Amino acid sequence: MKLCFATQNLNKLKEVQAMLPTSITLVTPSDLGCTTELPETQLTLDGNSLQKADFLYDNFQTNCFADDTGLEIEALKGEPGVFSARYAGPEKNAEANMKLVLEKLKNEPNRNARFRTIITLIINNEKTFFEGILNGKIIDTPRGSHGFGYDPIFVPDGFETTLAEMELSEKNKISHRGLAFEKLTKYLSQTMA
Ligand code: IMP
Repeated sequence: MKLCFATQNLNKLKEVQAMLPTSITLVTPSDLGCTTELPETQLTLDGNSLQKADFLYDNFQTNCFADDTGLEIEALKGEPGVFSARYAGPEKNAEANMKLVLEKLKNEPNRNARFRTIITLIINNEKTFFEGILNGKIIDTPRGSHGFGYDPIFVPDGFETTLAEMELSEKNKISHRGLAFEKLTKYLSQTMA
């Protein structure tokens, strides 16, 4: 079965493809002739992941899945959340985003935060949702050079290192995205194999 993954990141595509049964072949939106950017205008992660999957299903009549991820900080009432990529502006600058978070958390004792990934899968018009959460704390000063986004200021619960100080393989084992995709691939392996 062909399944469209709402990403143009071929590394991400390959990684997920490797976890799936051989009966499932992943394709990208551009493989289907989609030339526009997928819409992401909702105010929640769940809404955005559903919007992207709906767009593909409705316009290309294809079974598909889409993910959306954000950093949710307790003291900021869940911000940056759905605005994680462009918290400090439309340039999507990771340094500026982290700086803004640290400014907003200045003198704030509650450093609790979590990364959350939501995946929406649509098969024959039936929708299934998968969630992955990584709890942790926001530190005062960025540390580490691996990863991306907010990794240098996020220390997962039970660890002393930031995500940016971990090897990618170590991060993937515990990450929000890793957990959500593990649930998706388990579901697909059980139902589609
Ligand atoms: P996306 O939905 O995967 O594109 O993620 C949206 C934004 O959330 C990214 O641009 C990053 O700012 C942030 N983000 C998502 N996943 C991670 C992560 O694993 N580490 C750090 N930041 C992340």
